[in-house]
Amino acid sequence: MPRFDRSHTDDLAEYIRLSPTPYHACAVAGARLEAAGFRRLREADAWPGESGGYYVVRDGSIIAWRQGGPVEAFRIFGAHTDTPTLKVKPRPDTGSGGWKQVACEVYGGVPRDTWLDRDLGVAGRLVMRDGSHVLVHVDRPVLRVPRLAIHLDRKVNEEGQKLNPQTQFTPVWGLGEPRAGEFLEFAAAEAGVEAKDVLGFDLFTAACDRPSYLGKDGELFAAWRLDNLLSTHAGLAALIAAEDAEQTPVFVSFNYEEIGSMTYSAAQSPFLESVLRRVAGGDFERFARITAASRMMSADTGNALHPNYAERHEPGHHPMPNGGPMIKVSANQRYATGAEEQAVFTAAAERAGIPWQYYVNRNDIPGGTTIGPLSGTQLGVLTVDVGAPILSMHSSRELCGADDPAYLADLALGLYTCP
Ligand SMILES: [Zn+2]
Repeated sequence: MPRFDRSHTDDLAEYIRLSPTPYHACAVAGARLEAAGFRRLREADAWPGESGGYYVVRDGSIIAWRQGGPVEAFRIFGAHTDTPTLKVKPRPDTGSGGWKQVACEVYGGVPRDTWLDRDLGVAGRLVMRDGSHVLVHVDRPVLRVPRLAIHLDRKVNEEGQKLNPQTQFTPVWGLGEPRAGEFLEFAAAEAGVEAKDVLGFDLFTAACDRPSYLGKDGELFAAWRLDNLLSTHAGLAALIAAEDAEQTPVFVSFNYEEIGSMTYSAAQSPFLESVLRRVAGGDFERFARITAASRMMSADTGNALHPNYAERHEPGHHPMPNGGPMIKVSANQRYATGAEEQAVFTAAAERAGIPWQYYVNRNDIPGGTTIGPLSGTQLGVLTVDVGAPILSMHSSRELCGADDPAYLADLALGLYTCP
């Protein structure tokens, strides 16, 4: 039977529904922070010195913190806001054989077959002539990448679904001859602005299906963007709850993790360090002392044991849904975790009173990496990699345990409230 009341996971479902892109994820997070008394700061302004909760947003990445007295150390919980999907090309209006189509690039590691035959909306941001950013979210089916009928592809079950991303992965969005400018006009009209005033856009395909509980007792939870809004939402909830943190609690969720984190706002950029230096104040020596006393937890989803492919997992380490957050261990530091990091994790989990489990890759199947090693290396802060176990990572609909989002939020709060 379910261990928790489901209010945290219900709230995650709402956060995911409202956050189809990193820009939306930051806007919704910002609104929630403001409702809790936090104030938005602009990086180009002078910042107030008084106590309070603050946040900044840069290009789909968000950093929020609570400022009390002089900073002695940071307790940082990190995640990412982006998800593999399709990104609309600058001149998207295309078509073939009487179909209207939308030309897209592939953003990140998309398992292409999971985008087939899905009802897709469109979401993103428009940058306007006056410099303002307008969010757009067409939260209804508009696009679809149609699968080729099995009768025309008789060997698909034996040979697998192979899709050329340029020629066989272009969504349809209607019938007729394509007309240049039509897609942007559509997106602008949905946002209530004029296409002629749009100087730039970042538009993505967005799954429309609602998150839902699944399983005999509803013990599982299915949704798009669990990787990594599950962790973003957990850190946000923990920061809002962390009123009595002993050290300065910081929440960060970066854009662009899925494409390598090399942009001016991503985990390899100076964004986080720049904010922390401003929050800390003082000279280099003081910041070095604070850095040495600081701890970071980088949260990203990891792979739960797949029942149909148990042999792909490390046999002695089988993470399961609803077993609590995983500490991700990698001798080669694909994840930032050693003995000191383990101690930080265990202390936070004990403080939270939650179960936890190990994640280790097989030696012959190396896993991915995440923001932990990047931020840890960038900042020189002791960083531990953690995350909730999920199935179907990067699919257009992922699956996790219904209790694990709340466990991860408890772990984040445990980190924030550890001495
Ligand atoms: Zn991720």
